Amino acid sequence: MNDDFPKSDEDWRRALSPDAYQILRKKGTERAFTGRHLNEKRPGDYLCAGCGAPLFSSASKFDSGSGWPSFHQPRTGARIGEHRDTSHGMIRTEVTCGRCGSHLGHVFPDGPRPTGLRYCINSASLDFKPKA
Ligand code: FE
Repeated sequence: MNDDFPKSDEDWRRALSPDAYQILRKKGTERAFTGRHLNEKRPGDYLCAGCGAPLFSSASKFDSGSGWPSFHQPRTGARIGEHRDTSHGMIRTEVTCGRCGSHLGHVFPDGPRPTGLRYCINSASLDFKPKA
């Protein structure tokens, strides 16, 4: 893949909607139960809304009841960054797109089998591509 995505903060601001900019580039969080992919059940791939990198598959999506799209693992070969996040009085693991650095959400150790992980991801951080 090339690196055809915004680089400077100003470029990102121009490329994204105000809500998406706040979440992807300023580590914001959409309100629970408001995201566009929460109830998406079709087979397909979830791409980074910042750069188009394929990050998650419908095959690992599950209904966590949290109000955000949840996955038990990234797609095979997906580049995901993990970072310790101590904001808001909690110790969490932030997950980012390993390609463009956009904020995706957090990963928690309370997911279902087989991984026991719950990737709790903002809908705004993902574009859904239904399987053809
Ligand atoms: Fe990205």
